[in-house]
Amino acid sequence: MSLSVYKFGGTSVGSVEKIKKVADKVVADYRKGTKVVVVVSAMAGETDRLTKMAQSFSPNPSRREMDLLLSNGERVSASFLTIAINTLGVEASSLTGRQAGIVTDSMHSKARIKRIDVGRLNEIIGAGGIPVVAGFQGISEESEVTTLGRGGSDLTAVAIAHALKADQCIICKDDVDGVYTSDPAVVPDARRIPRISYVEMLEMSGLGAKVLHSRAVEMAAKYEVPIKVIPTFEEGEGTLIVKEDKRMESEIVSAVITDKNQSKITLLGVPDSPGIAAQIFGRIAKKNIVVDMIIQNVGGNNKTDLSFTVPQDDAAEAKVIAEDIADKIGADNVKLDPKIGKISVVGVGMRSHSGVAARMFQALADENINIMMISTSEIKISCVISEKQLKKAANVLHKVFDLGA
Ligand code: ADP
Ligand code: ASP
Ligand code: MG
Repeated sequence: MSLSVYKFGGTSVGSVEKIKKVADKVVADYRKGTKVVVVVSAMAGETDRLTKMAQSFSPNPSRREMDLLLSNGERVSASFLTIAINTLGVEASSLTGRQAGIVTDSMHSKARIKRIDVGRLNEIIGAGGIPVVAGFQGISEESEVTTLGRGGSDLTAVAIAHALKADQCIICKDDVDGVYTSDPAVVPDARRIPRISYVEMLEMSGLGAKVLHSRAVEMAAKYEVPIKVIPTFEEGEGTLIVKEDKRMESEIVSAVITDKNQSKITLLGVPDSPGIAAQIFGRIAKKNIVVDMIIQNVGGNNKTDLSFTVPQDDAAEAKVIAEDIADKIGADNVKLDPKIGKISVVGVGMRSHSGVAARMFQALADENINIMMISTSEIKISCVISEKQLKKAANVLHKVFDLGA
């Protein structure tokens, strides 16, 4: 008997009516003889609502308190969906992250999954029931409730699919019917991609395409968990994420990704001596903050300017660290650009084609878009530009690389 792990995002469980329809969908598959596990997000807007309410008590509530608070969003939708499934005459049980056996490290607000103790899940499945797991959360060895980072229910679903050796992990979406060549909300001309390789999807997610959580793709790639992204409420082929993309000759560029959730921090007038970058990035890494781009320019006076980008949510914390270090090493100043835009093109075909970067830079230049930072890998090129020009840049590059419908 095959086993599918379904994940429903916030918009798919955003209302009573939608939850009832999700219950119908899950039960229909269950009645065909499939074993089913369901992972849910909080109802649309709920995580933001709780976050905002907490901030009316303190601008900076502790991460531990935020984790316990936010974990409730997913518990509520898991309970609602379970009640809806039970009403259809099928046994289902909602489970918190802890009850589902999801053990994490203790890094509040961005915990990593260490293991999943699948006993309880298997018990429910073995008795013919459907476990409905509250996504995005786990429990640390110290019995503290943790969360996995925004969008983390995708990771819950992939991790459970791997732990249970499920046949597939089916990510159901309400606002898009698959993975697109660019965010359809930014590029109206974007096209659904029927199949994509783990490596390309990993780049896309890592660069800020929020359609799938990057750590979920990372885990799926590592353990070869097949992922399907499909529409929740319609029929549709969606997108299959696979190990190898069997296109005869891959397109050079397969997607254009925008990200407006990054900030730039610059240390000005850093003395040019060994070990300073190690100090800065060592301390930032200890806080589990992911640094994306880094550039350093050595000036004439043995001083350098060092800029790097971090997720907006982490910018304030990274700035405090940068200021502390700047103070100790005698740098002139620290500057924070809270909002920057990052535009990237991704494609495995870039490995074997030259000139992609030049075409990208020329297209941006033609539109008078200034590039502030550049970074490349063998399958992607990213530029930091002004956030205001992001939409224009995405549409232009989508056209230049011929990705349209
Ligand atoms: P869910 O709540 O189901 O997890 P998300 O809101 O996290 O859904 O992700 C879906 C959103 O991702 C869509 O609204 C879409 O605008 C955005 N998105 C960004 N990049 C892409 C892309 N390349 N393909 C599809 N959707 C994308
Ligand atoms: N509810 C969480 C969020 O909004 C997790 C998720 O939806 O995956 O980020
Ligand atoms: Mg999501």
